[in-house]
Amino acid sequence: MNADNRPEANLRARIAALETLLARIALEYAPATFASSLSIEDMVITDAILRNKVDISVFALDTGRLHGDTLAVLDAIGAKYGSSIRTWHPEPGAVRQYITVHGRDAFYTSVDLRKACCEIRKVEPLRRALAGKRAWLTGMRREQSVTRSELALQAFDAVFGLEKFNPLADWSETEVWAYLRAYEVPHNALYDQGYRSIGCAPCSRPVVAGEDVRAGRWWWEQPESKECGLHVGPDGKLQRSKNKESAA
Ligand code: SF4
Repeated sequence: MNADNRPEANLRARIAALETLLARIALEYAPATFASSLSIEDMVITDAILRNKVDISVFALDTGRLHGDTLAVLDAIGAKYGSSIRTWHPEPGAVRQYITVHGRDAFYTSVDLRKACCEIRKVEPLRRALAGKRAWLTGMRREQSVTRSELALQAFDAVFGLEKFNPLADWSETEVWAYLRAYEVPHNALYDQGYRSIGCAPCSRPVVAGEDVRAGRWWWEQPESKECGLHVGPDGKLQRSKNKESAA
């Protein structure tokens, strides 16, 4: 870290709380794993885990539809930390069947077909990645969208059957960028081209001033439907229990 970009007191307190929480998860919920989307938020958590050598594994879902710039983040992680993170891929047979029956980009035609694509390329591989784990972590933040405004810091994930932590739930986007600058953490070059939330290439676009952070994700759908199945509860809505809010 350069002296010039040393984090200010508020951010230092946030970082200390983050590192304390990660250490507690590693101790109390082993084996725990972090699902990185390679977003700026997820690079904060990745850095906090790898730089401090916290015993939490890190993985990413390579859906087969990611931008080259997103895949380049994997190389940047390897170069900075000297360790690669594991990638999980969709079942080739399921992808083939979807393309044969519906067409490769059928997700533009209905929410159901969009969710079916996400199920094959994201949710099913996630299920395999979480098998045998006691807790998982994400980099979601409350202010990202209406679907995340009541996001819990910690809650039991009834869909996947393990504890779920969102350590950056109450972080601001400004704080995320301040962290990345302070620790010289690499980020996806697409953020420098107007993207503020990045998923698969055909389902992400840059946003313009005044738009929601996640407005560029599945922009043809209503905001209330914009989750891919990774973070929804049995009722189809984002898991929102705040019963363990004090875990920060
Ligand atoms: S984000 Fe788009 S391309 Fe990626 S899995 Fe979902 S529907 Fe398919």
